Amino acid sequence: MREVTQFANYHLEIWRRPRQRNMHLTVRPDGRVRVTCNKRCAKREILAFVEDSRLFIEKRTLELEAMRKRFPPKQMLSGETFLFFGRALPLQVVWTWSERCAVTINDSGLEMTAPLSSTREARAKAMRLFYKKQARLHLAERVKLFSEKMNLFPKQVSVRGQITRWGSCSARGEISLNMKLMCAPEAVIDYVVIHELAHIQHLNHSPRFWNLVGQHFPGYGEAKAWLKSNQAEIAVQFDRR
Ligand SMILES: [Zn+2]
Repeated sequence: MREVTQFANYHLEIWRRPRQRNMHLTVRPDGRVRVTCNKRCAKREILAFVEDSRLFIEKRTLELEAMRKRFPPKQMLSGETFLFFGRALPLQVVWTWSERCAVTINDSGLEMTAPLSSTREARAKAMRLFYKKQARLHLAERVKLFSEKMNLFPKQVSVRGQITRWGSCSARGEISLNMKLMCAPEAVIDYVVIHELAHIQHLNHSPRFWNLVGQHFPGYGEAKAWLKSNQAEIAVQFDRR
């Protein structure tokens, strides 16, 4: 259940979840403040929590602004680069009379055909579609490979474009992977696949869980570090603004 409201000068989103125990607050890349909490949580408790988190919200907002300055939003035009399998590929836009934008990959990088009248958003959408298609192909293949190696088989695998998570695994053994992973080097993608598959056995981040991950991906710390240090740049690449 979602509720949107204004509090102080924040645009506040309240997400109520049946099984969530603690309240959790995040500042979204677009500046919205999101609180996730249990569905029975009282509104005044939530507002008090936001009030108490003011310093955090302000700090996070400043960080996000600095990030936007460092990585300005892409216009989806020739010369911009896009991370793909860990490499920054240049984009070449070929203006056409066709009605649709479409992205392909060749030896020199990414190529987009786009009508002259296309908007940034239409081109960004075509780019997201390209990543999603590539992700569906590549991730399905890696999940199959590691499922067999680990003898852990997900009930379902979906590819999505979550803003904050690289992947998730439900209690029912359904795995969801982020298409943005296609920005990462192959080994880093494999780490996330292994991480989510390991959750089929351990639905937590216990030492036994990390032990299982480590068996299939020794030195996973480096992969984690790569994701952490590149997440801002990747987020900008898929920014919807
Ligand atoms: Zn995890």
